[in-house]
Amino acid sequence: SVNRPEHIQQQRAQLPVYAEEQQIMEAIAENPVVVLSGETGSGKTTQVPQFLFEAGYGDPGSSNPGIIGITQPRRVAAISMAHRVSEELGNFGSTVAHQVRFDTNVSDKTRVKFMTEGVLLRELASDLLLTKYSVVITDEAHERSLNTDILLGVLSRVVRLRHKLALESPDKHRPLKLVIMSATLRVDDFVKNARLFPTPPPVINVQSRQHSVRVHFNRRTPAPGQHVSEVVSKVAKIHQRLPDGGILVFLTGQAEITYVCKKLREQFPTLEERLALEQQEEQRKQARGRRRGTRGASYNKPTAMAANGLEAGVENEDVDIGDYDMFTADGELNDDFKLDSDSDSEEDEEIILGGDDHEETALLLSENLKTAVAKPKAAGSDSEDDHPAPLFVLPLYSLLPADQQLKVFAPPPAGSRLCVVATNVAETSITIPGIRYVVDTGLAKEKSYDAQTQVQSFEVGWTSQASSNQRMGRAGRTGPGHCYRIFSSAVFNDQFPKFSEPEVMRMPIEGVVLQMKAMNLDNVTNFPFPTPPSRSALKKAERLLTWLGALDSNKGRITDLGRLMSVFPVAPRFAKMLIVGQQHGCLPYVISIVAALSVGDPFIKEFNLDPDASSSTLAEMGAFGCEESVALSEAKNMTSEEMAAKEQLRVKRRQYWGAQAKLAGADPTSDILKWLTVIGAFEYAGGTDAVCAEYYVRPKAMSEIRKLRGQLTNLVQMYCPGVDVAMDPRMPPPSKLQQSVIRQIILAGFMDHVAVRGDVAGYHDPDEESSSKKRGMHAVPYITMWSEEPVFVHPESVTYISARGAGSMPQAIVFSELQRTTRLWAKAVTVVNTKW
Ligand code: ADP
Ligand code: MG
Repeated sequence: SVNRPEHIQQQRAQLPVYAEEQQIMEAIAENPVVVLSGETGSGKTTQVPQFLFEAGYGDPGSSNPGIIGITQPRRVAAISMAHRVSEELGNFGSTVAHQVRFDTNVSDKTRVKFMTEGVLLRELASDLLLTKYSVVITDEAHERSLNTDILLGVLSRVVRLRHKLALESPDKHRPLKLVIMSATLRVDDFVKNARLFPTPPPVINVQSRQHSVRVHFNRRTPAPGQHVSEVVSKVAKIHQRLPDGGILVFLTGQAEITYVCKKLREQFPTLEERLALEQQEEQRKQARGRRRGTRGASYNKPTAMAANGLEAGVENEDVDIGDYDMFTADGELNDDFKLDSDSDSEEDEEIILGGDDHEETALLLSENLKTAVAKPKAAGSDSEDDHPAPLFVLPLYSLLPADQQLKVFAPPPAGSRLCVVATNVAETSITIPGIRYVVDTGLAKEKSYDAQTQVQSFEVGWTSQASSNQRMGRAGRTGPGHCYRIFSSAVFNDQFPKFSEPEVMRMPIEGVVLQMKAMNLDNVTNFPFPTPPSRSALKKAERLLTWLGALDSNKGRITDLGRLMSVFPVAPRFAKMLIVGQQHGCLPYVISIVAALSVGDPFIKEFNLDPDASSSTLAEMGAFGCEESVALSEAKNMTSEEMAAKEQLRVKRRQYWGAQAKLAGADPTSDILKWLTVIGAFEYAGGTDAVCAEYYVRPKAMSEIRKLRGQLTNLVQMYCPGVDVAMDPRMPPPSKLQQSVIRQIILAGFMDHVAVRGDVAGYHDPDEESSSKKRGMHAVPYITMWSEEPVFVHPESVTYISARGAGSMPQAIVFSELQRTTRLWAKAVTVVNTKW
């Protein structure tokens, strides 16, 4: 039997899910499909697999010998949860494993397997009955990722099939159990969808001991781009004025997060950071011949909250958000946590800065709201020491290496407060212990995709009300908490959509359609999607697959080529490139290119050179306007330090573009060939982080590209008979002939992404007169085959940079991606050579 460490056993017993073990296990035993919904942090992900394990699932000698599979939308969650469950299972820890695209520790001993959804989908293609499994848990189903939706559609059928087979030959087959786990959000899309589940599955709602969270709206919503500085000052106020408890900040992306972390660390250095600073200071002073005693650290700590009066066993969803009470029992405005109130006239300037603009509306999500709370002591009021208490600031976003992401689970150093600055990864799948304050910008960066124009863009926009409420809930895990929303309640009510749109509506779906065809689900329009994509989006995907030769053109059935393409864990157009790439010794190059295209542009952007560039919108405009904005800010009077920083940045920029030019080669014809060059150069020079810095590429991207190269090399070796390819770490650059073949192979994968220069295509440019001035001299319109709207070569492209004027821009190009910001940008461009 399982022997757990004592502290683990104590923690488990506290989790709401723990009390429901019997009910959950009975429901699973009696039903083929069960929906389990519960507040984030209630123990679903860590406990349910253990319940199943202890009930004998996955035990080769039991009646449910198949293993327990759990899917996660994100790699980090799959790895960190496997880690945690392994730890919790004590003496059986080694039976837990994870499998994600680049990493696995699955073995013969594995009985509990955490994996990404993509991994299970791929297994389905080769074993539709999932014979290895006795139970599959699809976790975070509320997120409605594309893969979750597809999995649920397929699994609903697999469950029925296994049930039927088990009835027919019980000695050979066992039924498959499906458990759908979700945060407390919109489960009706699964439960009340008769095409998905003709018999509605039972729903178990785990009652969680969520503490009350009080919401404070800004009176006014900051202007676009201002939310970042607003966040910094809000966190500073919380830290200086409010009692102990971690702070969790929701922002939209890496650039903003890096900026906010930097500002906060400067303002509230940790003990170590300050000792280092003080040491420097000391040395300087000693150098001047003066002596000075080292100062011990002492912090100002606000007193702990005296009363836990805010605590209430009220479920969030039971409370009408619109029906709140802002008053205490005495009829006073309950302003203890109103950070911007001007009632404390003794606060120093910085604290009440902006007080007029942002007097919050206090909103108490509890019936117990009439209980007063002891007023926290303001920092600095009676201290002998002017050091601000340290803040332990940690970033959390998906491009951050996994080991750094795991840091958020560890307690902060003694005497400092934890502050995690995150994207929406912290919304539901990862629960950070000890969070009491949430600062929510209400914004999220989401990939959006227009199936009509095939335009993909990353847009920053308001998240949904549901997501914002999830974020709020993060403050109420450990005790009563507070959520500071950097936007007004009017914006929340009028402009936030209720729910986010499922990903299937926002993504290219040709990969999914190919996977379905490979599973012989021919009629994709009849597939039981939880939310079906439009018929035209499905048709478009089928058309692209037919072009690529993956489907036959009359019946739409998968071809041998299509079946081969479906074994590669990359987009169908990239799989096609791998298969046609077997000429003139080009395969190792094509594999590298496909790996890079799948992982994404490895280069650090120019705007990331400047740690102070906080405005992601400016950054996303690319090189356009960048020089201008520098010039503008220079016009203002700057200190000599600022001047020095600017000069340093200018030098860095020059080095950056120098490296880019070197990688592009003497006769630049393709961004993708430039990527290939950097992969070769990187590996040749030893593939270290130092090499990454030299070439301005992201270490994480480079290591993923390397792993994917290895994986694709093995797959090609295995599935393409007669091909002999090995991964050469010291890949020599391709010859001229090979370069030209590679460009044809790129064209084969992107033949629907060809664009012809406007003047060649007979396009009349309405802005021609003013365009060269307004857009920069190489901003020439290109025409694609499916849209009236012109596209422009992105200014970061080697094609753009190396052109010597509008006339020397290539006549035809192929691009891998379109991005819409101020206009439609063609990215990762390759020249189509008419002389081929
Ligand atoms: P749910 O899936 O319902 O959101 P989880 O099972 O993920 O809940 O989390 C249950 C508890 O386990 C949470 O309080 C969380 O903080 C804790 N937890 C999860 N992973 C770790 C970890 N790696 N280290 C410490 N605590 C963890
Ligand atoms: Mg979970």
